[in-house]
Amino acid sequence: MSFPEHLIIGGEKVKPASGATFETINPADESVICKVPEAGESEVDQAIDSAREAFDDGRWSDLPPAKRGRVLRKLAGLVRTHNAELARLETLDVGKTDFDAAKIEIPTVANILDYYAGFTDKLTGDTLPSEAGVLRMTLRQPIGVVGAITPWNFPLLLATWKFAPALAMGNSLVHKPAKVSSLSALRFGELALEAGIPAGVLNIVPGAGSVVGDRIVTHPSVNKISFTGSTSVGIGIQKKAADTLKRVTLELGGKSPNIIFEDADLKAAVRGAMTGIFYNKGEVCAAGSRLLVQRSIYNEVCAAVAEQAAKFVPSAPVPGDPRSARMGPVASKAQFDSVLNLIQAGKDEGANCLTGGSAHDNGTGKGYFIQPTVFNDVDNAMRIAQEEIFGPVLCIIPFEDEAEAVAIANDCSYGLAAAVWTQDVARALRVVRRVDAGTVWVNAYNLYDPSLPFGGFKASGYGRDLGEAALAGYTESKSVWINLG
Ligand code: NAD
Repeated sequence: MSFPEHLIIGGEKVKPASGATFETINPADESVICKVPEAGESEVDQAIDSAREAFDDGRWSDLPPAKRGRVLRKLAGLVRTHNAELARLETLDVGKTDFDAAKIEIPTVANILDYYAGFTDKLTGDTLPSEAGVLRMTLRQPIGVVGAITPWNFPLLLATWKFAPALAMGNSLVHKPAKVSSLSALRFGELALEAGIPAGVLNIVPGAGSVVGDRIVTHPSVNKISFTGSTSVGIGIQKKAADTLKRVTLELGGKSPNIIFEDADLKAAVRGAMTGIFYNKGEVCAAGSRLLVQRSIYNEVCAAVAEQAAKFVPSAPVPGDPRSARMGPVASKAQFDSVLNLIQAGKDEGANCLTGGSAHDNGTGKGYFIQPTVFNDVDNAMRIAQEEIFGPVLCIIPFEDEAEAVAIANDCSYGLAAAVWTQDVARALRVVRRVDAGTVWVNAYNLYDPSLPFGGFKASGYGRDLGEAALAGYTESKSVWINLG
């Protein structure tokens, strides 16, 4: 097996001048997958200078828009051709099941590239109503150099949420993937060069947040930061980026309510609760981690959820074998410790642990496996109901009526996603309107489409990824006034 060994800077595959590397660990067996080249400040500066030069000389931004689209479509094709290889990197690096990586994440990367390729020659400004002798109009122009900083839960997918719209609009990028999951981005950077993305337009520099990330955020030549990650890091980024007045969009954490009313199709709702929390081992920003259940069906739903949850026995995913695991290990030792700490906090606070509640030993004594865990009789004020656990841990909270369901749903600092399960259309639409969330599903959970904007209310951040809405984050509007004499 070969693994990426180079940073991507200025169109070249380069090794860090210092020779620095860091080990990346397979969370399924704790083995070292490989050593990853680690950027330091000088590599970040080179990457930013390359991106700046590429933007300023127009080698990408000044191309005929349709040509940019053709390159992005070619890149989408290369991603499809290399689906198995990219999926394998994700499975090894972060414990994603083969099904999630090969059938969902990587194909979606290609679909998003195709989607934004279509916008290169379609996003227009406006020609405005003007009196005689004047023409007023607006132009949409790329922002310049974009710093993309992304997390480890959907490594290449969330990076593509930034790359595709930014590139489609003609920007250049410097990308810092999360340290635990840098491999797929480095390989993607190689494929981007092969597809014809010009030198310097897409630079990939893995390394520490406090070094590489910080340099990107503070460097005066970077015009915009597009960040996905935790709320605490996002707040720090916003503060630091203010010194150079960078444009900032933040996709942050969540603690999303999944609300089941008594008239719901309960079989579907329980299935949705499972998808909501155990898909990708709960390492999903929009995970339905608070299950709000109407009191009249509470016992029935708790029993069904506990029974179904116990079936998500974690095991080691095997690249190329979609049936090898239904749920993999959490992505890293740090995440393993953090999830187990919060499970313990739930027990200490008096929530009832219905099923799971500890690490899972798969017989090898190795790997960051956590039992699918369900707490019920959770009070919404408890830490496990307020803090993002980002693991396979569900909190079930009872409610009496619609007003109380909405009140509990909104009694949380986050506002990323929500779902409502009911057969009453009017009730569904009332809840959709009242709940504080950037995405609301009705009788569904965890469904995404390239055309549907995604982002947060409140502490879940601002700005939108995906959809036409994302393009606003990668363009400036220029107003033009022309005197016609
Ligand atoms: P994190 O905030 O720890 O790290 C995110 C990225 O920021 C990483 O690349 C990290 O190295 C970098 N970073 C860390 N410190 C930095 C600093 N001082 N300056 C610049 N960059 C820095 O988050 P994580 O643990 O990688 O990911 C999990 C979090 O991401 C969760 O909170 C989850 O909800 C959130 N997330 C949000 C979305 C969304 O779309 N809203 C999607 C996925 C994940």
